[in-house]
Amino acid sequence: MIQLKAVEKTYRTDTIETTALNGIDLNVAKGEFLSIMGPSGCGKSTLLNIIGLLDTPTRGEVLIGGQQTTQLSDKQLARFRNQQLGFIFQSFHLINDLRVLDNVELPLLYRNVSARERAELSKEALAKVGLGNRMKHFPSQLSGGQKQRVAIARAIVGQPAIVLADEPTGNLDSAMGNEIMDLLLQLNEQDGATIVMVTHDELMARKTHRLVRLFDGAQVNDHYLKNAYA
Ligand code: ADP
Ligand code: ADP
Repeated sequence: MIQLKAVEKTYRTDTIETTALNGIDLNVAKGEFLSIMGPSGCGKSTLLNIIGLLDTPTRGEVLIGGQQTTQLSDKQLARFRNQQLGFIFQSFHLINDLRVLDNVELPLLYRNVSARERAELSKEALAKVGLGNRMKHFPSQLSGGQKQRVAIARAIVGQPAIVLADEPTGNLDSAMGNEIMDLLLQLNEQDGATIVMVTHDELMARKTHRLVRLFDGAQVNDHYLKNAYA
C-alpha cells in the first residue's frame, strides 16, 4: 500500500542544511498498522508528511497504492491526498467555529458529494467513533478525547485507504489515550484501514502490528510485534 524507495529529505535554508531523512526504504502492506518511534528531531514528522504527500522527498520514490507520486502536479497531489489519505494530529486541528458535523464533512467538500450525502456519511462516521449524540456541539464544548474522536471521524469519512496519525494520543491523559488507541485498532481491524502512527508512547506502539524506530533520519530497527498482521 505504501512503498518508499531510498527516500532522502534535506531542508536547506541560506546557511544551514539539515538532513531529516537519510535513505528510507519502507513497505507497508494493506491493512497493516505501523508505529514509528524515535527521539525528537529524528525525522518522524518528515516521514509522515512525505507518506501523506504533504511534502516531497529530495531524492527517492514514494508509491501509494502502486501509484508513483513523485511526478504528480500539486493539483493531482491534492486530489490524491483527499481521496486516499486521512490525517489525525496531536492537537486535533478542528475548526472551532464549525459544529462537529460540519468539521467532519470538510474532506467531502472537495468531492462531488451532495449536501445530503455529506451529512449522512458524516453522521455514520460520528456514530462509528461513538459521538452520534454530539453533532451539533462546537469543539470547545468537548473533552480532548471527544475532540480527537471528531478528528478521527473527519479522517475516515471519505473512506481513505490510509490513515496517518501524528501522536494521536500525545495530548490526552492515559485513559482517554487508551480509548483513542482502541478506536484506531478497531478501525484497522474492522474497516481494514492501513494506519501509520507516530508515537512517543511505547505502550501504544506495542498494540500495533509493527514498530519502526528512527534515529538521525535512518531506520535503526523494524520489527513485527506479536499481534503482527498476517
Ligand atoms: P521529529 O518529528 O522526529 O521530531 P522532524 O521530522 O520534525 O523530526 O525533523 C527532523 C529534522 O528536520 C530536525 O532536525 C528538524 O529540525 C528538521 N526540520 C524539520 N522540518 C524542517 C523545516 N521545515 N525546515 C528546516 N528543518 C526542518
Ligand atoms: P500536530 O501538528 O501533530 O498536532 P503540533 O502542532 O503539536 O502537532 O506539533 C508537533 C511537533 O512538531 C511540535 O513539537 C513542533 O515543535 C514540531 N514541529 C512542527 N513543525 C516543525 C518544523 N517545521 N520543524 C521542526 N519541528 C516542527
